[in-house]
Amino acid sequence: MTARSLSFCCHINRQRTFKEKQIAHSKKHIAILGSTGSIGIQALEVISAHPEYFEVEVLTAGSNADLLIEQSKLFKPNTVVIKDSSQYQKVMDALDPMDIKVYTDGAVGDVVTMDSIDIVLTALVGYSGLLPTINAIKAGKNIALANKETLVVAGQLIMGLAEEKGVNIYPVDSEHSAIFQCLMGEWHNPIEKIVLTASGGPFRGQNREFLKFVTKSEALKHPNWDMGAKITIDSATLMNKGLEVIEATWLFGLRLDQIEVVVHPQSIIHSMVQFADGSIKAQMGLPDMKLPILFAMSYPNRIPTKFPRLDFANCAQLTFEKPDLKTFRNLALAFEASEKGGNMPCVLNAANEVAVSKFLHERIGFLEMSDVVETCLSKIPYIQTPCYQDYVETDKETRIKALEIIN
Ligand code: NDP
Ligand code: MG
Repeated sequence: MTARSLSFCCHINRQRTFKEKQIAHSKKHIAILGSTGSIGIQALEVISAHPEYFEVEVLTAGSNADLLIEQSKLFKPNTVVIKDSSQYQKVMDALDPMDIKVYTDGAVGDVVTMDSIDIVLTALVGYSGLLPTINAIKAGKNIALANKETLVVAGQLIMGLAEEKGVNIYPVDSEHSAIFQCLMGEWHNPIEKIVLTASGGPFRGQNREFLKFVTKSEALKHPNWDMGAKITIDSATLMNKGLEVIEATWLFGLRLDQIEVVVHPQSIIHSMVQFADGSIKAQMGLPDMKLPILFAMSYPNRIPTKFPRLDFANCAQLTFEKPDLKTFRNLALAFEASEKGGNMPCVLNAANEVAVSKFLHERIGFLEMSDVVETCLSKIPYIQTPCYQDYVETDKETRIKALEIIN
């Protein structure tokens, strides 16, 4: 185990006994960034089932004003942000009489610092999650991290800041939550490797000839999970698993050669840890994001739930296979970008965001998405130790290059 992971793990460990008692009796005040998305909606379902444990302080949305208003009437947050300024007046008219503060574009990065917030759940999609997460950590807020792109783009910066500010980052991504759960009580034990499971997406077993012609609506049909459009496409291309490999290197302080990806189409084992003695621990359950969301908000406690339970008699087969890196090149590209380090994962992410958006607008085909990413990785200048401004520039430059390649 590297020095980085040891310090992360010990950091959680030191607080454990102390916090277990304290948390059991105090409500946590939550800011949900991206409350109108798939994770945001499920987080509010979790909160509404456990009002004795959680209180909503802040909700933010991109442009879905109607849903934001509906959620705010129900959960009565202190503050809301609607990014789309054309929707601001509508939200203001609806919520001002309820004494809810309403802000628009640019405010997400500020509201996360409010004194009353205990945990910021980052459920924005893509690069937009980076700045609010940095500001929240600087303000000493613990993070429930769904927005994996934040760690892909600037893992070194984020983990360094979290360390400096004594902030914990609780994973929401189901695989990373699984690893986190396997590590409870094991913080002091060396990890040999982790095994990240992947469903394989809707095109598992297909060849490149087939993939050339798949449509947006076929790619949006995930076999096991109901998620936002961007992550659903990332799952179909296996870029999602690539992003998760990079996310895991930072969260758990692992080298790339300590991370194995295994395709497990049933999505029952959410991931595994193999310790130095060869023992393997797995976390299992039905594919339901509400559990990792709840655990990230309630750690170190397990709160009783009525979520459907796994019935082993109904899952006779758990199967595993190697991922096909030649057909699904995005996974190989993510390993390469992570190996090079520096600003290359930021390039990978920006190029992928542009490519996915263009695929969703039916401007490029399925296989062209990895062509765009590969070309950007070879064209954007390498920066070994980027600072925040370097990430901003890299992201901007890569988006321009990706659009140039596509047009
Ligand atoms: P969605 O697309 O469903 O939701 C995204 C949310 O962010 C919406 O509330 C949207 O607002 C808001 N938003 C989008 N762009 C911006 C922006 N530029 N500025 C401000 N707000 C914005 O995404 P998901 O919930 O699926 O995913 C969120 C994150 O969680 C992603 O990083 C994803 O990888 C990760 N994740 C998701 C999982 C899932 O099951 N969905 C599982 C594991 C990780 P609006 O709708 O109002 O426009
Ligand atoms: Mg995941």
